Amino acid sequence: MTFAVHGLAVARGIAIGRAVLAASSRIDVAHYFIDPGSVLSEIARVRSARDAVKEELQRLQQTVALMSAKEAPQELSAILDVHLMLMQDKELEEGVKHWIIDRLYNAEWALTTQLEAISRQFDEMEDPYLRERKADLEQVVERILRYMKGVASPVAPPPARPAPRQQDLQLGDTEDVPLVLVAHDLSPADMLQFKQSVFAGFVTDVGGKTSHTAIVARSMDIPAVVGARSASQLVRQDDWVIIDGDAGVMIVDPSAIILAEYGFKQRRGDLERERLARLRHTPAVTLDGERVELLANIEMPEDAEAALKAGAAGVGLFRSEFLFMGRQGHLPDEEEQYHAYRRAVEGMQGLPVTIRTVDVGADKPLDDTRRDNAHLNPALGLRAIRWSLADPAMFRTQLRAILRAAVHGPVHMMIPMLAHGSEIRHTLALIDHARAELDNAGIAYGNPQIGAMIEIPAAALTLPLFLRYFDFLSIGTNDLIQYTLAIDRADESVAHLYDPLHPAVLRLVADTIAECRRQRKGVSICGEMAGDTSMTRLLLGLGLRTFSMHPAQILAVKQEVLRSNTTRLAPWAQRVLQAEDPAAAMAG
Ligand code: PEP
Ligand code: MG
Repeated sequence: MTFAVHGLAVARGIAIGRAVLAASSRIDVAHYFIDPGSVLSEIARVRSARDAVKEELQRLQQTVALMSAKEAPQELSAILDVHLMLMQDKELEEGVKHWIIDRLYNAEWALTTQLEAISRQFDEMEDPYLRERKADLEQVVERILRYMKGVASPVAPPPARPAPRQQDLQLGDTEDVPLVLVAHDLSPADMLQFKQSVFAGFVTDVGGKTSHTAIVARSMDIPAVVGARSASQLVRQDDWVIIDGDAGVMIVDPSAIILAEYGFKQRRGDLERERLARLRHTPAVTLDGERVELLANIEMPEDAEAALKAGAAGVGLFRSEFLFMGRQGHLPDEEEQYHAYRRAVEGMQGLPVTIRTVDVGADKPLDDTRRDNAHLNPALGLRAIRWSLADPAMFRTQLRAILRAAVHGPVHMMIPMLAHGSEIRHTLALIDHARAELDNAGIAYGNPQIGAMIEIPAAALTLPLFLRYFDFLSIGTNDLIQYTLAIDRADESVAHLYDPLHPAVLRLVADTIAECRRQRKGVSICGEMAGDTSMTRLLLGLGLRTFSMHPAQILAVKQEVLRSNTTRLAPWAQRVLQAEDPAAAMAG
C-alpha cells in the first residue's frame, strides 16, 4: 500500500530505490560497509561477543541459584533462562550473518538491523506473552553491543575509504537497484562515511534543515529528507521508496503511476543540471556589471575536486572539524593536519582556501558515543572556539598546521563562534605563539589573513571590535539564526520557527554587510542561506558580493546572479528589511 511520510527538504532531487534501514538502538553504533575480505572476521567478532555475554549470563545464573528466594526472586532466574535461550536464537544468528555476508554491514549494524527485523515479527504476534519477549531480545542484543563497544570498540574506517561498489553488495533481485538509506538519526560522522558510498538518497526521523547531518547530505548532492518523524519505523528493509528532496517527502511502496510520474520528474531534474553545467565557465557578473564571488564549502580535502568542477572561485569554508570526528579520541596530529590542509590548498590550484579552525560540539560530537551530559544544551556549551581555547596545546597544533599549509597557496584562517573581546585576544595570542613555535623550530610557514565568523548575535552587535582585530568576516547564518531566535537548528520539532527571513536575523545580516563594506573589509556568508537561490537577490540587494556554499549549489546561484540587477535590488532590499513581514514583502 502506498503511503507518504513528510519531513523537511534538505537536498534537492528525486531518488527512487530500495530502502536500507540503519536501525536505531538505545546504544549508538557505527554504520559502515566492510571490505568483502573482512566478512569472516566480522562474523567472528559477533560470535565471540555473544559467547562472552553467554558466559557472563551463565555465571550470573549460578550466583542466583546460590541465593535465597528473598535475595533473588524466582523471576530473575526465569529471565536469565529466556535471555540465554534468545542468545542461541537461530534467526538472530542467521540474520546477522546475512547482513554481514550479503550486504557487507559492519557487525554492529548487522545486529541492530536483525533486531529490528525480529522485533517487527514480535509486534505482530497475537499472544501478549510472546509479544513481550521483544524487550528481552532488545536487552540481549544491547548486552552484546555494549560488550563489543567495551572490548573491541568498532573502529570505523577512515572517511575517505572507498565504499564497496553497488554490484559488490550481491543484492539478488535488487542488484543494480539504487539504495536509499533510512535511519532514525545519522551523526555527521556517519554521513561522512557514507559520502562516497552507494546511497542514492537519505531519510532520517530527526534533524533540522541546517543540522550538520543535513549539511553533509546537501554536500553529497543527493536527495535527502530529515525530520521525517517515524520514517524508520514505517519503512521495512528493501521496501521501494521515492525520496522527493524538493518537497521533503518520502513515498513508500509507490504505485506504477506514481513511479512513472517521479521517473519523469527525475529526468527533468537531470536535464536542468545539464543545462546549468554550461554556466561553469561563465563569470558571475550581474546585469549591471557587479562581480560576485561564488566560493565552495567543503568538509574534506578531496572535496576540492567538486569545488573546482562547479567553477568555485575558491573555498570559503573548510569545516576542519570533520578531520577530527569519529576517531575515538585520537585527534589528528600536526603532520596529519598539515598534509590534509595542504591537499586542499593544492587541490584548489592557486585559488584561495579558507580553513576554519575546529568547530566540534553541539550536533557535531567528536565521537558517536552518547554524552553523559545529555541534559545540557550542547549548542550553548563548550563548542567551536570555546573548545579550542579550553585546550591551547591542541589548538596550537591546529594553528601550526594551518600556518604551514599556507606556504603552498593562498590560505585564510577563520575562527568560529567568537563573542567576547577576551576570546579574540586569547585566540590571536595563540596564533602568535604558534608562529613563534614554528620560528624556533625553523619550520616554514605562510602569512594567512585571519578572519572571524559572525554567528552569535553578540558578535553582530559589536562589529567595530571584530573589524579592529580581523582581516575579514564571514556570517554563519546557520548559527546566527539558531542563537538569535533561540531555535535548536537540529531539532525538527521547532523547525517551523527557524526563519532566515525573521526581521531580527535580516537586521543583523544587513548591518554586518554594510559595516564591512563601509570599512572596506571582506565579508561573506557561508551559512546555508548563501546557497539558497530564493535568498540570492535579497543578499545581493543588501550589498553581499561573496557567497560560500556547497559546490552543488554554485551554478544555480550563479544563474540568479546573472539575472540580477543590483542597482534595482538595493532599494527593494531596504524595503524588505523594514517590513513587518519580510517574506510577504519579498513576494509582493
Ligand atoms: C554557520 O553556522 O552558518 C556555519 C557556516 O557554520 P556551521 O554550519 O558549521 O556551524
Ligand atoms: Mg556555525
